[in-house]
Amino acid sequence: MGNLTLVPESRPERALPRRRVRAVAVGSTTIGGDAPIAIQSMCATKTTNIEATLAQIGLLERAGADLIRIAVDSRKDIEALEEIRKETAANLVIDLQENYRLAASAAPFVQKFRYNPGHLHHHQRETPVADKVKYLVDLAGAHDCAIRVGVNFGSLDPAVREQSEDPREAALASAGFHVELLEKLGFQRYVVSLKSSDPRAVVAINREFALRYPDVPLHLGVTEAGLLPDGAIKTRIAFEQLLAQGIGETVRVSLTLPDSEKDKEIFTAREIIEDVAAGRFRSVPDFLSSGLNVISCPSCSRVENGAFVRLAQEVKAALQYAREHSLTVAVMGCRVNGPGETDEADLGLWCAPTFVNLKRGETLLGKFAYDEVIPRLLQEVEAIIAERGAAQ
Ligand code: SF4
Repeated sequence: MGNLTLVPESRPERALPRRRVRAVAVGSTTIGGDAPIAIQSMCATKTTNIEATLAQIGLLERAGADLIRIAVDSRKDIEALEEIRKETAANLVIDLQENYRLAASAAPFVQKFRYNPGHLHHHQRETPVADKVKYLVDLAGAHDCAIRVGVNFGSLDPAVREQSEDPREAALASAGFHVELLEKLGFQRYVVSLKSSDPRAVVAINREFALRYPDVPLHLGVTEAGLLPDGAIKTRIAFEQLLAQGIGETVRVSLTLPDSEKDKEIFTAREIIEDVAAGRFRSVPDFLSSGLNVISCPSCSRVENGAFVRLAQEVKAALQYAREHSLTVAVMGCRVNGPGETDEADLGLWCAPTFVNLKRGETLLGKFAYDEVIPRLLQEVEAIIAERGAAQ
């Protein structure tokens, strides 16, 4: 199982309470056991843009990233990954979406796979999920890789979603199902994550999972936390509560950032860990319980248009006038998570290559050019405010 790193005297998390969880070796780092909290990030570059991806890996490594995730969606991504592997010794994690079988070609070049149980249904529908997980476990065993079961509220397993109205219960059921599967297969080199864009949900569900599975390492994250500073605040709210209770063996702060500033995810994670270890807690901002809440995804190689980050910034700026109103507006970079993640928001925008989809709740209002969507969004905001005023 590789080398176990003990938390050095100088590391701030020596002061944190820690759960007794199993140690999971991932390349040169360890998640869980007595190891320091591992800090991760994900490349936002196109994987096929080898030069840009290597530059981002270098940026993240220099910032101190223990693990770096890369999206792999196609054969071309695998070819690029092989070249990337030749140029870096970083601990790489592949992010699998629907095409889980790409893991077979990627495994020789990485230290960990992340699969989302909600995405294991799309390809080869006739193959039972248990067989797909066994396929991944066999590959992980053969190539000395760890696995993360990454449950996300925006893309829950449709089978468990049907059984529960409450997404938290559905997420827990999905994670539990996969824990049982992996244990039955005799595979223990795995971690679990349960992510939502709502920090309160992240706290509640991770606490519950930690109670049910006390020795399974947890990867913490708030998805689509958005732009700074709000993205760091939302993440801090969740991490403060969990790390202070000893929950969380590895973390990622998901922020919407330009490629050249992606290292801020690592700096922000370290700052939060150090603050919690030193007892520096910040109060919960009002906007989480009332007022405007703009969430946006951190962007990754799947982003459909480079204008996404600017769009997220412009949405936030344009909505400042409505900050007293309890509205959640979600801005997402692509079709993979955009449609599902925006369902829970009052208004949602998700990017296509040449237009932006605008939704109100689960209803699509239309497709708009990048420079036309904000006036249309504001029109809808006005309509919601007027309807709520009339209802009162
Ligand atoms: S919504 Fe799409 S672009 Fe944004 S982080 Fe998720 S997968 Fe990447």
